[in-house]
Amino acid sequence: MTMALEPARRPATSEPWPLLDDLAYLCSVMVNVYFVGFPHAGDREWALIDAGLPGSADRIARAAEERFGPNSRPSSIILTHGHFDHVGALEALAERWDVPIYAHTMELPYLTGQSSYLPPDPSVGGGLVATLSWTFSRGPIDLGSRVNPLPDDGSVPGLPGWRWIFTPGHTPGHVALFRDADRTLIAGDAFVTTKQESAMAVLTQRRELNGPPMYFTPDWEAAAKSVAALADLDPEIAATGHGEPLRGGSMRADLHDLARDFHRRAVPHQGRYLTQSAGADTNAALTIPPDGPQNLPNLLLGAGEIAMLMQEFLGKHAAMK
Ligand SMILES: [Zn+2]
Ligand SMILES: [Zn+2]
Repeated sequence: MTMALEPARRPATSEPWPLLDDLAYLCSVMVNVYFVGFPHAGDREWALIDAGLPGSADRIARAAEERFGPNSRPSSIILTHGHFDHVGALEALAERWDVPIYAHTMELPYLTGQSSYLPPDPSVGGGLVATLSWTFSRGPIDLGSRVNPLPDDGSVPGLPGWRWIFTPGHTPGHVALFRDADRTLIAGDAFVTTKQESAMAVLTQRRELNGPPMYFTPDWEAAAKSVAALADLDPEIAATGHGEPLRGGSMRADLHDLARDFHRRAVPHQGRYLTQSAGADTNAALTIPPDGPQNLPNLLLGAGEIAMLMQEFLGKHAAMK
């Protein structure tokens, strides 16, 4: 594990950060939402992609007002998939804006109260977020008649010029969104630009292409095919669900490499931490719940990350004085 911490590129802000004239994003804690539409577009003249963590509805709504004008509601909310960190503010926002939601048919059971996602695998990937992943909500949420299937013809309601691309693996009905005119890709969690399993990478948003978050990806064969399909699009911008959006030739080259070398770079190797010696800490061990992960080395890796992060923050604080 590298110890190097990169400074955040910009301070936290409630303002959506522009990527293109008609595309901006807001990063809330560790997950991105995307706003598609020109500044000051007005009411029902833009769309929201994904809906962040629980508790972020006010922040997303405020960001939308800043970009599109007071009381501007989207024409639609499009979901790349239904994981808790992409639908957290969804019910509150849908209520506030009275707006239709679209997701792939295969994702609808998780959005209409019919089934929960498969349990996460906290033993893969290493790091605190993976370790804590068993605590993440697997749903389902029930959006009732607000949620609709994406049209069969590949079009995206409210987003002319865009098409959805079926990219299962991370979830059964995961989609990415693509605009051919400028090769802009909104990738959801099909691949991400930070190592999502690790709290350190999440908090520093270190830039690197990675496969989908390991602890929550049950179908690696499908995930590999999905990344290959997205690499074939040769995107100019890769706007992912986690990590900073990236653009240009080096991103494209890395995406092709990720697709080619997917099994080595993205697929977890079960049990690789079992050989690691664990400097046992009773406090960490006590935090394992009876039905939680029985993977002590992994949990300790998470504890180690917390210690390193605290050191880093204390160091920064001292330097500022
Ligand atoms: Zn996800
Ligand atoms: Zn996610």
